[in-house]
Amino acid sequence: MKTEMIYRPVGNTGISASVIGLGTEHLDNKPYKVVERVVHAAIDRGINIMDLFMPGEAVRRNIGKALAGRRDKFLIQGHICSTDIHEQYGISRDLPTIKKYFENLLICLNTDYIDFGMLFFIDSEKHFSDVFEGDALPYALELRKKGQIRALGASSHNPVIAKKIVETGLVDVLMFSLNPAFDMASASTYVLDYLDQNTGLNYEKNFDPDRAALYRLCEQRGTGITVMKTLGAGKLISPRHTPFAKPLTVIQCIHYALTRPAVASVLLGCSTPEQIDEAVKYLSAGDEERDYSPVISEFQGGMKGSCFYCNHCLPCPAAINIADVNKYLDIALLDKEHIPPSVVNHYMALDHRASECIACKSCQERCPFSVPVVKNMEKAAAIFEVN
Ligand code: SF4
Ligand code: SF4
Repeated sequence: MKTEMIYRPVGNTGISASVIGLGTEHLDNKPYKVVERVVHAAIDRGINIMDLFMPGEAVRRNIGKALAGRRDKFLIQGHICSTDIHEQYGISRDLPTIKKYFENLLICLNTDYIDFGMLFFIDSEKHFSDVFEGDALPYALELRKKGQIRALGASSHNPVIAKKIVETGLVDVLMFSLNPAFDMASASTYVLDYLDQNTGLNYEKNFDPDRAALYRLCEQRGTGITVMKTLGAGKLISPRHTPFAKPLTVIQCIHYALTRPAVASVLLGCSTPEQIDEAVKYLSAGDEERDYSPVISEFQGGMKGSCFYCNHCLPCPAAINIADVNKYLDIALLDKEHIPPSVVNHYMALDHRASECIACKSCQERCPFSVPVVKNMEKAAAIFEVN
């Protein structure tokens, strides 16, 4: 079944990306024919964004060849500071080295620009100072000035550092590791260790406030999020490894990521056209298939009262999109005196506003997270509908 792709603006960049994007890490070390099949299948299904962090020349050239004549069909998220060290991918903040690898990316892709130039892998205070006080940032800003990157971004797995990056006001796009399991891990739990060593993640059984604050800040600042680790490296959909009572489905994981504030696109690593077909099934899935709340609400402990934007509480007799109202309210409450005009505009564009709530409370009975929806509707109406 052919389903129309959905496109979303990437923050304030003026660029729109497909909600499902292509992660290309599984195309590393694959023959050209495999790369071509995957890239062409992605284009055929309306996918228009790919992440390419790998420094290896072979995979870069294969992707460039597969994109020949179709470069304008794809947004490339390429990385600055991703380099090859002893034939393994590594990170460098050394100017000649990062220049060499970025220029090589343009050559291999046979292009003169990258859409999103991402400052690569900023997970610690040291990474942050190396990039933002070193040579990488001026180099990236120069690339943007020359049009060799259209927008500047950064990638991170750490919510506290990612927030610091967004607060610089310098980046347009953030690539972040985001899924329901990571969202319940504190910033001090380094999620990559969990993936690498297969050790138990120190779950708080609660939505980590640093992560919630990061997503709201991105929405407030107009910084678009592209998502990595949507499936937690496959663990969330695995009966053996899932931290929840049962595994989530691919569709539920995608929907979870796409219902966080500021998220534009989830980038899923695919190595076959069939995997792309599996991912785009999301587009034709119904509300029930997408609903992740039954799985995560069993796990979630002390988080009662905060909205997960799941819309499990619908239908509303006043036809209010309760998740969206709660999302805009949460962002507005970050700083009531300086609500971004884009958030106000989004709220005002809703078909039905919070003031239409008749306080029937049927949503509250259905909400697995005990959100005080009626109170939230009152607050939202008071904040957004004063005039
Ligand atoms: S109020 Fe509850 S059910 Fe409704 S969107 Fe929020 S968390 Fe989901
Ligand atoms: S309480 Fe308000 S928001 Fe909730 S279902 Fe009733 S009318 Fe809709």
